Amino acid sequence: MSARIIDGKAIAADLRARVGEAVKTLPGQPALAVVIVGDDPASQVYVRSKVKETAAAGMRSLHVELPVDTPEADVVARVKALSDDPAIDGILVQLPLPAHIDAQRVLDAIDPDKDVDGLTDAGAGRLALGRPGLRPCTPYGCVILAKSTGEKLAGKNVVVLGRSILVGRPAAMLFLLEDCTVTIAHSKTRDLAGLCRTADILVPAIGRPHFVQGDWVREGAMVLDVGINRVPAPEKGEGKTRLVGDVDYEPAAERAGWITPVPGGVGPMTIACLLRNTVLAACVRRGWKTPAL
Ligand code: NAP
Repeated sequence: MSARIIDGKAIAADLRARVGEAVKTLPGQPALAVVIVGDDPASQVYVRSKVKETAAAGMRSLHVELPVDTPEADVVARVKALSDDPAIDGILVQLPLPAHIDAQRVLDAIDPDKDVDGLTDAGAGRLALGRPGLRPCTPYGCVILAKSTGEKLAGKNVVVLGRSILVGRPAAMLFLLEDCTVTIAHSKTRDLAGLCRTADILVPAIGRPHFVQGDWVREGAMVLDVGINRVPAPEKGEGKTRLVGDVDYEPAAERAGWITPVPGGVGPMTIACLLRNTVLAACVRRGWKTPAL
């Protein structure tokens, strides 16, 4: 079997366009604040594209840049001020934060109703309890991609590799809410290969290039590769690199029914879901009718 490719780039572009159309119908303009501490180049790139795409979708974006040595208390105070600011609908704190800052203390300063990343205790709690709320962007993107195939999700065996607060845990909770039977694997899991072979839907979120072997993929399974890993690419020239997922793509695509490429799979869904969450947050906070997105 040769897998059909789930085109995350196109699906994310479609969602961004739908968010843009929905924004035009709202009585006001949603506003997203993006907070970055320090000058980590990868984080700067992510933040710039979040700010750019927010504006492209017709929303207001506030870019808060703080120096790398900003004391934790000052970062917390800044985030708290954004939480208290009625003009701001969504707050995103770019992770990771510098080592001297406890990320959880900063996240806890976000008003749960503005938590567009779904990372506060309240946001994670709402998800765990199956209550309405803003869902973490990357895992929610995985669910959208899974649904885009037209496959019925209820009853499917989902194996999520990784249990991080950012990806693995919320992905597991989201697939549970879709009535899937979910297993979470991690670094202490025994017989990972055997477990992966039980998956109708495999969601690797580990951060290890080509870790999941082709023969770990069950014939016809869906593979949603969250991993983004930079590896040397000597074929492109000396010192060049390229991005690969957690899955050994070619052999996995031979066996899978559906597969996401890296790049161009799960990755582009994160910002699209962030924009979606900003609209949802604005509608709930301001009592506007929530568009179907
Ligand atoms: P993380 O916090 O480092 O978590 C990695 C998880 O993988 C941990 O739960 C760890 O288990 C597990 N793990 C590590 N080695 C393993 C092994 N040999 N066998 C089984 N499990 C293993 O990473 P993350 O933040 O969740 O990110 C995971 C990947 O997703 C990264 O490549 C990241 O770049 C990517 N990512 C992509 C997006 C996007 O597409 N926009 C967004 C976020 C992250 P333990 O808990 O036991 O240590």
